[in-house]
Amino acid sequence: MARPWNFSAGPSAMPESVLRQAAAEMLDWHGSGMSVMEMSHRGKQFVEICSQAEADLRELLEVPEHYAVLFMQGGATAENAIIPLNLLGRAAQPKADFVISGIWAKKSLEECRRYGDAQVAATNAVETVIDGRTQGPSTWLPETSSWRVRPDAAYLHLCSNETIGGVETMAWPDMADLGAPDVPLVVDASSHFLSRPMPVAKTGMIFAGAQKNAGPAGLTVVIVRRDLIGHALAICPSAFDYANVAREKSMYNTPPTFAIYIAGLVFKWLKEQGGLAAIEQQNIAKATMLYNYFDQSRFYSVPVHPSVRSRMNVPFFLPDTALESAFLAGAEARGLMQLKGHKSVGGMRASIYNAMPLEGVVALIDYLKDFERSHG
Ligand SMILES: *Cc1c(COP(=O)(O)O)cnc(C)c1O
Repeated sequence: MARPWNFSAGPSAMPESVLRQAAAEMLDWHGSGMSVMEMSHRGKQFVEICSQAEADLRELLEVPEHYAVLFMQGGATAENAIIPLNLLGRAAQPKADFVISGIWAKKSLEECRRYGDAQVAATNAVETVIDGRTQGPSTWLPETSSWRVRPDAAYLHLCSNETIGGVETMAWPDMADLGAPDVPLVVDASSHFLSRPMPVAKTGMIFAGAQKNAGPAGLTVVIVRRDLIGHALAICPSAFDYANVAREKSMYNTPPTFAIYIAGLVFKWLKEQGGLAAIEQQNIAKATMLYNYFDQSRFYSVPVHPSVRSRMNVPFFLPDTALESAFLAGAEARGLMQLKGHKSVGGMRASIYNAMPLEGVVALIDYLKDFERSHG
């Protein structure tokens, strides 16, 4: 059976070779006679799987030694609470600043408000005009020079790829340039994690739910500078205290063992692709091909300003919402799945993560052309 092209924003397509390897090893991992999901997390075999996954991730992202890699649970949504619970205690006053780039950043700010004073450093929640082009809310990014960060904030939160809006921050700022050299930059990279090299050393921490680009749901990857660990508020649940998780090498309690194993296979797959610089070139090629098609079309439109268009999540509109159900039905008939946009934005969205080959994007463009021809 041919696999369909899955454009879901998450959980999303996995590399087929990873699925095949997991299937081959399902009943017997490396002669152990056991499935990985049956192994004790404290046993020699799983500890080896987990430390290999960490080593491969460190190699891929060139994570410096003074950062801890934590395998946690609860997704990026739980992390929105776990971060303030761990970091607000570092500052004299419990306060943190947020760059509002879309829905996910806004959710992070709202969650932080339960524990401290969360303020907006910059926002794109309004209309603006760039190069004579009117941009709607959440379709552009404020220049970093306009961000207002309090120098005594516990951290600055940035969602570096807004999965719903399709807005990606390509260059991450140096906090010294923002007049806040002591404020750690906290990056929610969930939906473009491992899609390109990332400047870990510019950040205090990077976190990502695995189910977009790194593996199955159930695993959250946290990369955090070690000096930020150990300041948790007294109300922080012990299983979410980075100090406990780091000290026990992600085994403070039972970690999501099977998800870590699969993510480890994805890390190996990425290394086989040539690492993050190589996968970035593939991602640029896929995204450029798709956006170029949309830009020459007078039928489809892309709401996001060209300078901040995500290479991973591509929202687009048809000229008339009345065409949407026919568009989606025709797409599914050709094995092009999950193209419906998020309900808060409407329209369509194609998520083209690492595991989507160029061939899948070509198949999508072929369909876009045919639909435009028959309905334009
Ligand atoms: C998907 C996503 C989240 C939420 O992830 P959950 O695992 O559902 O909690 C948060 N931030 C970004 C950028 C995302 O893409």
